[in-house]
Amino acid sequence: MSNVLYSNDVAETSVHARTGGDANYSRQYTRDFVDHWDELIDWQKRAEGEGSFFVDLLHKSGARRVIDVSTGSGFHAVQLRKAGFYVVACDGSPTMVERADANFKKHGVSIPIRQSDWLELDSRVLGTFDAVVCLGSSLCHVFDEQTRHEVLKRFRSLLKPGGLLIVDQRNFQAIRAGKFKSSGRYYYCGTSAKVGLGEVSDEVCEFVYTFSDRTTFSLRVYPILPAQLRSEIELAGFNQHRSYGDFKPIYDVMSSDFIVHSAFVS
Ligand code: SAH
Repeated sequence: MSNVLYSNDVAETSVHARTGGDANYSRQYTRDFVDHWDELIDWQKRAEGEGSFFVDLLHKSGARRVIDVSTGSGFHAVQLRKAGFYVVACDGSPTMVERADANFKKHGVSIPIRQSDWLELDSRVLGTFDAVVCLGSSLCHVFDEQTRHEVLKRFRSLLKPGGLLIVDQRNFQAIRAGKFKSSGRYYYCGTSAKVGLGEVSDEVCEFVYTFSDRTTFSLRVYPILPAQLRSEIELAGFNQHRSYGDFKPIYDVMSSDFIVHSAFVS
């Protein structure tokens, strides 16, 4: 029996409109783009690039039950399940959910998965967790500050007291300063896929992905700055904020690809 739980809630369309704005995330992850996603990641290289960073962070906090709220094609859900955590995977994009479920089978892991927009994540349905992970530069799909606040509060509502939130973002501080770097050493490591930039302003950042078969896709996201995300995380009821540049606690913000934020429920 498949463990994919699809949500048929009619309210979903309006929720998508709120969390995606003009650049609705669900429409951006077309089937064709999702079919190329794992070429972009290169699972083996990504696993080598991040090493045991997330597993160590989760172990240090004593976490056992983890929810991956932006599972995409399931990379972190699989790594964390294999590392012994109980994992639930969610994503709002139906094409990503299908891809993740296929990847769970391919990797021989049993992980319950649900299609859900962040604003519809419900602890009465999903239970509560020791940790929420939102990885792969996902939160920037929400353009509107008030909606991000609601999303972060939703994540908080899934956590037990003292629970851990881990959110990462591409380093929009460097990108907005004209120092975009996609080293290919972390996160999106596939050597046959190229990541470039389209439009960049304080309001929008467009990533352009070109694959080995020459197909091109673009993603438009909100280029949230690390300091802004930190204050939004704290405003949503988290404390003990820490940040890491390319997994290091001491880092040069202008030469990091990704910034990881961690914080605990107050
Ligand atoms: N974590 C994965 C995927 C990152 S891509 C990885 O690292 O490879 C960003 C993901 O966030 C997409 O799968 C997209 O569908 C999901 N997403 C974006 N906005 C969302 C929202 N409002 N609700 C649920 N999922 C969302």
